[in-house]
Amino acid sequence: MRILIVDDDFAIRKIISIWLRKYGECVIAENGKEAVSAFEKAHAETKPFDLICLDIMMPVMNGIDALKAIRKFEHEHSIVSGSGVKVIMATAAASPKSIMGAFNEQCEAYLVKPIDEEELFATIEKLGLKASE
Ligand SMILES: [Mg+2]
Repeated sequence: MRILIVDDDFAIRKIISIWLRKYGECVIAENGKEAVSAFEKAHAETKPFDLICLDIMMPVMNGIDALKAIRKFEHEHSIVSGSGVKVIMATAAASPKSIMGAFNEQCEAYLVKPIDEEELFATIEKLGLKASE
C-alpha cells in the first residue's frame, strides 16, 4: 500500500517511515499544505494513498485543516465516506477538544504522542490495512 507520513518533526517522520516501510511505499510531508498537495498529486497519478499518518500541530497548515481539505477533495470527487483514505491522527495534545475535533473531521483513529510502534501497528491492522506483497 501507499502511505503518507505527515509531521513537522524530522525525527518523527524518519522513525515512522522506518516502522511503516514493511507495509509499503512511504511518502513524507512536512506540514498540512504539503500533505494536501501530495494527496492530490497521488490521485492525479491514479495511485492514491491507502493511509495517512497525520500530525495535528504543524506550521503553515495544521493536521485538522489538512484533513478537512482531504475529505473535501474526496467528497468533490465522489469518493464515498468510508472508501476514502484511512487517516490516523497523531498529536502531543491529548486534550478532549482536539480529539473530538479530529474525529468530527472524520479520521479513523487517534494516537497520542509519543507514538508507540506496537500501538501504531495494532491500529493499522484494526483498520483492515495490509502490507503490500
Ligand atoms: Mg507537530
